[in-house]
Amino acid sequence: MSRAAPVSFWLETAARGPARPALDGSVDADVAILGAGYSGLWTAFALQERRPDLRIAIVEAETAGFGASGRNGGWCVANVSVSPAELSRRHGPGAARATMLALRDTVDEVGRVCADHGIDAQYRKGGVLRIARGAHELTALRAGFQSRSTLGLTDGCELLDAPQTVARVAVADARGALFDPHCAVIHPGRLVRGLAEAVERRGAAIFEGTRVTGVRERSGRQGPRLVTERGDVRAATVVLAGDAYLAGLPGMRRRVLPVYSLIVLTEPLSDHAWEALGWQRHECLSSHRYTVDYLSRTADGRILFGGRGAPYHYGSAITDAYDRHDATHAVLRDQLSDWFPQLGRIGFSHAWGGPVGMTRDWMPRIGHDPRSGIAGAWGYGGQGVAASNLAGRALADLITETPSSVSDLPLVGHQPRSWEPEPVRWLAVRYLQTTLARIDTRARRTGRPPSGRSLAERLIRH
Ligand SMILES: Cc1cc2nc3c(=O)[nH]c(=O)nc-3n(C[C@H](O)[C@H](O)[C@H](O)COP(=O)(O)OP(=O)(O)OC[C@H]3O[C@@H](n4cnc5c(N)ncnc54)[C@H](O)[C@@H]3O)c2cc1C
Repeated sequence: MSRAAPVSFWLETAARGPARPALDGSVDADVAILGAGYSGLWTAFALQERRPDLRIAIVEAETAGFGASGRNGGWCVANVSVSPAELSRRHGPGAARATMLALRDTVDEVGRVCADHGIDAQYRKGGVLRIARGAHELTALRAGFQSRSTLGLTDGCELLDAPQTVARVAVADARGALFDPHCAVIHPGRLVRGLAEAVERRGAAIFEGTRVTGVRERSGRQGPRLVTERGDVRAATVVLAGDAYLAGLPGMRRRVLPVYSLIVLTEPLSDHAWEALGWQRHECLSSHRYTVDYLSRTADGRILFGGRGAPYHYGSAITDAYDRHDATHAVLRDQLSDWFPQLGRIGFSHAWGGPVGMTRDWMPRIGHDPRSGIAGAWGYGGQGVAASNLAGRALADLITETPSSVSDLPLVGHQPRSWEPEPVRWLAVRYLQTTLARIDTRARRTGRPPSGRSLAERLIRH
């Protein structure tokens, strides 16, 4: 599909094989998957591991990796969008600990599959540094360590003071950091395209340029199916793996909310600049802002700086034009300079973005309903690189009725409630976006941590 601007640096720099055909008339499969991003592809991959005989058809509106999977910040991290402390509050400490351990294994599992299947995703496990930038962020930093400690999850984690932090990465105003080793940095485009080729080699069919316009549940003797303008894909099970974009499907508008995450990318830095910065272990970096920032170091020596802050669009609208938002991209460039003033004038080569799917309670939806024949995984809240692998394995276990510890996790089978209808949704999300940005600004200005008690903070507690 040709577009005015490339979707991302990642898709620009990942080798792509010949274009795949669109669906041409109706077909039958055992499993029909909507979406060729990580969720759809990991589900296909895991199904093939369990049942190599299954006929799998993946239907993609654009090209494989077009969505968040081909655009993200490259963090393959042992996290879901709900914090360990909140998981513990909601499901008990045992289930929270089991979830976190499963996510840690998942980070390694992604690396293992890449190695075993020749996917050169530039996987590098350097951990993550959650940095307190300013004294006001120390409270959140310590709380993060404390919640891991309560759950017995601090092995390999380190609390660093300011000099230790700066010795790792020379970040301005760093007052300390929590190092967690359970994170790798990857090249998202190479991962998603490599995975697509891996599942094809094992027999799955991927149809590109084929938009699903409706989903039919099992009804009487008729199985479920994906409906497209080019024909139907009839199957025993249908898997919805379209994350934020699912909001555009009939009946799905309130199940998932698209929030835009945006990225700026520098030109490659000189060796001299890298020496000054440190950052030799290629850790992923973030601060503790509510408005979210995430940094990674690319294999070719650039800095990727991402953040939220682009406005939510009425009616959960998604369009290519929203991938770029000049005001937010300008703020991200300024923020990068604020992190690394020693770099002086920084040259930027790319800016892009994309929607991430949020559920109403921030927990992803990963489930299978055998009665309707519909399974799905979505709503990772912008943290789906590793979690989608876990989701794919869980869905494969559920669909093939394979007992497993993964499908017993509290993440699996959870049904988040729906978002409010418009205009309430728009008013509430915009209120949260502007209020949280204001709270971040105030905390930085006053040096005092946010109270955690404001309405906005209570609404987003997760
Ligand atoms: C800018 C950005 C930065 C991010 N950074 C990180 C990060 O560093 N770490 C992390 O863990 N997560 C990150 N995320 C989130 C992560 O990328 C996603 O959680 C993950 O990629 C979701 O994968 P998916 O396959 O579920 O969805 P997607 O990758 O969005 O794939 C869905 C696919 O479904 C297709 N589709 C949708 N609707 C239809 C339809 N009707 N018919 C046919 N096809 C359809 C789409 O075209 C798309 O290809 C980021 C996301 C963005 C946008």
